[in-house]
Amino acid sequence: MPRSREIHLVVRPHGMPQPTDFALVEVDVPEAADGEVLIRNAFMSVDPYMRGRMNDAKSYVPPFQLGEVLTGGAVGQVVTSRNDRFEEGAWVVHNLGWRELALSDGAGLLPFDAAAGPVSTGLGVLGMPGLTAYVGLLDVGRAEAGETVYVSGAAGAVGSAVGQIAKLKGCRVIGSAGSAEKVAWLKELGFDEAFDYHEVPAGDALSEGIDVYFDNVGGSTLEAALAALRVRGRVVACGAISQYNATELPAGPRNLFLAVTKRLRIEGFIVSDHFDRMPGFLGEVAPWVRDGSVRYRETVVEGIENAPAAFIGLLGGENIGKMLVKVGPEP
Ligand code: NDP
Repeated sequence: MPRSREIHLVVRPHGMPQPTDFALVEVDVPEAADGEVLIRNAFMSVDPYMRGRMNDAKSYVPPFQLGEVLTGGAVGQVVTSRNDRFEEGAWVVHNLGWRELALSDGAGLLPFDAAAGPVSTGLGVLGMPGLTAYVGLLDVGRAEAGETVYVSGAAGAVGSAVGQIAKLKGCRVIGSAGSAEKVAWLKELGFDEAFDYHEVPAGDALSEGIDVYFDNVGGSTLEAALAALRVRGRVVACGAISQYNATELPAGPRNLFLAVTKRLRIEGFIVSDHFDRMPGFLGEVAPWVRDGSVRYRETVVEGIENAPAAFIGLLGGENIGKMLVKVGPEP
């Protein structure tokens, strides 16, 4: 019987997660039964939303259970198939969790065409984060050519796609990120302006006004963006990573009344409500990735045993672009 290693949550984090909140566990994997496939993962996805699922709190997805595998995203190859829909050798993106081998009855498996590009992009620029950027910017934010778009968390998986798609749609783009190296990369990507939020107050960087704020971080950055938004501006409420480890939620934004005086629209969204947009997104963005109009970076941590460190690193801003853990062979 093959053995597989997987990552379990063993303690619910209080504040910033600690390595001891996780355990590496080795398990037996039964043979694929009729209708099942066995998948060998190549990459696991490290995502900020997983922090919310570590709390025992009601949300749009149920919390992770203690002592069970973390059900994060991954991409892998079907190595045994007893399901007519999936051939051996096919690549699939799935949410079966942070493990080396995964058994599936085929539900929720998304085929990934390995000829279209590196399979890792199925977890990043051509996967959930890319779709988040596309739907958030265009469907929720309704950004138009000539408008100024500000995106925080701009050097991450979602943010870097938001900024580049906005440029391709004719917007002026401002991005913020947490280091000089990240800011330099944003300028390379063609952002009109980029700043390190540790060095420059967002209010100063946005003093000329913005039309759309794509919010990945919340907190004081959201307040600065509310102040900078023009009349009928939009806030795309995508994430609030500055608060994910907070043990006491801060009050605010203190200036929310500006939503009234400036007739702002503030709209949150969850990407899984928009998976029907995947074909439209891939039809438009995959050619841009192929011809280099949309570029991406990945921060790849080697080895499943290092997944907790990769997750803690993501929350601390160690990644540029998409944070991934490599756990097996890729094509
Ligand atoms: P990223 O690749 O952007 O990685 C997270 C980044 O957040 C870090 O690299 C770090 O960069 C930044 N960060 C960490 N702490 C802070 C802080 N206190 N203030 C400002 N920035 C901070 O992750 P993703 O692209 O995967 O996700 C980006 C956001 O989008 C997250 O909020 C996530 O929850 C959200 N999201 C929402 C979805 C939805 O359906 N609504 C779907 C997917 C993602 P830096 O060095 O710049 O600080």
